Amino acid sequence: MTALIAEAFSTRPSEMMEAAQAIEDGISSGELIKIPPQPDEVDPDGYAAREGRLLARWAISRERNPALRKRKIAETYRLGRRIQCDVCRFHFLDAYGPIGQDYIEVHHIQPLHISGPRETRLNDLALVCANCHRMCHRSHLGSSWRTPDALRRMMADTPRGRLDSTISR
Ligand SMILES: [Zn+2]
Ligand SMILES: [Zn+2]
Repeated sequence: MTALIAEAFSTRPSEMMEAAQAIEDGISSGELIKIPPQPDEVDPDGYAAREGRLLARWAISRERNPALRKRKIAETYRLGRRIQCDVCRFHFLDAYGPIGQDYIEVHHIQPLHISGPRETRLNDLALVCANCHRMCHRSHLGSSWRTPDALRRMMADTPRGRLDSTISR
């Protein structure tokens, strides 16, 4: 995470300064601290810095915004695509029947602390199942944010990964 931030600072300094300012404002005004711990925060102790922890919490709380999720699902239908996990292709309706209709979570492809505080665009969001979403945010080797592609590669590199045994692709 630190390396990514350092890279973003050197390639997009003004955006990053803006993001840093927003974070500082959020922390000093108490806005970020007011966000309750999110259920998807995995291994919160994995974050050394309080700022990082609060930022991740902020990002995840945004991902839980039902209106954003709804718009992403509507957009996916409009494009004629299935409501399934971008990582493992899990499809809740196929797997669970009617109770799984339109069930999916959304995940920012770029972490907010890299992309800055701008408005989330639908293209910034991936559809992910609950398992893959947890794995996207699990603290591991100094990072607690990964893209669907990165997680797919991890699964592909895992001999018993379930990529090939999912119900629908
Ligand atoms: Zn998945
Ligand atoms: Zn996420």
